Amino acid sequence: MHVATVTDIKSLHLDELRGIAEPSYRADQITNWLYQKRVHSFAEMTDLPQALRMQLADNFSFDNIDTLRVLGSKDTTQKFLFRLRDGNLIESVLIPASPALYGSPSDRRTICISTQVGCAYGCKFCASGLDGWKRNLRADEIVNQIMMVEEASGERIDNIVFMGMGEPLANYDNLMRAIQIINAPWGIGIGARHITISTSGLVPQIRQLADQPLQIRLAVSLHGASDDVRSRIMPINRKYNLSALLDACRYFASRKKQRITFEFILIAQVNDSDEQARQLAKHARALEAKVNLIPYNKVEGLDWMQPSSDRQKKFLAVLRAADVRATLRREKGDDIAAACGQLRLQTQRGMATPALESSG
Ligand code: SAH
Ligand code: SF4
Repeated sequence: MHVATVTDIKSLHLDELRGIAEPSYRADQITNWLYQKRVHSFAEMTDLPQALRMQLADNFSFDNIDTLRVLGSKDTTQKFLFRLRDGNLIESVLIPASPALYGSPSDRRTICISTQVGCAYGCKFCASGLDGWKRNLRADEIVNQIMMVEEASGERIDNIVFMGMGEPLANYDNLMRAIQIINAPWGIGIGARHITISTSGLVPQIRQLADQPLQIRLAVSLHGASDDVRSRIMPINRKYNLSALLDACRYFASRKKQRITFEFILIAQVNDSDEQARQLAKHARALEAKVNLIPYNKVEGLDWMQPSSDRQKKFLAVLRAADVRATLRREKGDDIAAACGQLRLQTQRGMATPALESSG
């Protein structure tokens, strides 16, 4: 398929628009139409001169994403499957009133969004990487997920986690461009402290993120507290091992004066021993990091199992006994990340629609 190289209007920042539309207040009108009034075409920007509207339409795309399926209901987690202009599928998850995760009070509405089509990192437990990597999302495709979910749900989103499909830090430039639009007062206007990036551990990019000015939060997918365990399930650990990763985390935490979060999926017989818990506690204490335990969410076609509830609680108890701030995410709707990647996979592989599909 021919891929257009045209820039999309929702990938541009206000100062870039000022360089395009004259006089400069036209740029403010454009961002107002895009992010406040939320129109879907240049034609709807009725207070712009006709000539400017045509000039914009000639030079920029105005892509919207199509909502293919919505699963779940209003008061629970809702999953959105979107089709991009080129036919690729991505998904976002809306958690209406999420548990106190990532520093956000419980009345917040959190959205989990995707940054790539597929994922190249091939973690052995994850649905997103199963069919490999297709492409990076553009900034507008990242921003559009938030706008479409708000439009479809009627909810105002105030907390964002980059825990959907893909490795956000492998799409660094588009990610940061999108985050600036999400954060800007002329854009969506969500505070940096309410934006969390989750990474499987791209060391150079963690350092790069530490050196840029926004107070974005960082969550690191650890999933193994020693190199042997981590390398077994996360190939990236062979490139950036634990000590390199923890160094980068320390750098981030000190530059940002921030407590980072370690995510740790609990997989039976793989990383759920007391010994792993003790080593995890040591790493977390050294960084004053919080730990989020996530019971492994079964993926079709993969053999990993969730540990028993007793084992999960015991693992948590070891962390707490070592004075680590840790939570055990319960199943059902509050497992934000676990859901991501799976809906797309099901749809692409033509599996039956899960029973929770809603009518609207
Ligand atoms: N690539 C980034 C962000 C997307 S994955 C990263 O790896 O951090 C978001 C989170 O979902 C990660 O912590 C990931 O390990 C977790 N995850 C993936 N598959 C899962 C599954 N089957 N059950 C539970 N969590 C899963
Ligand atoms: Fe990619 Fe993250 Fe899934 Fe690993 S866990 S395959 S990095 S999306």
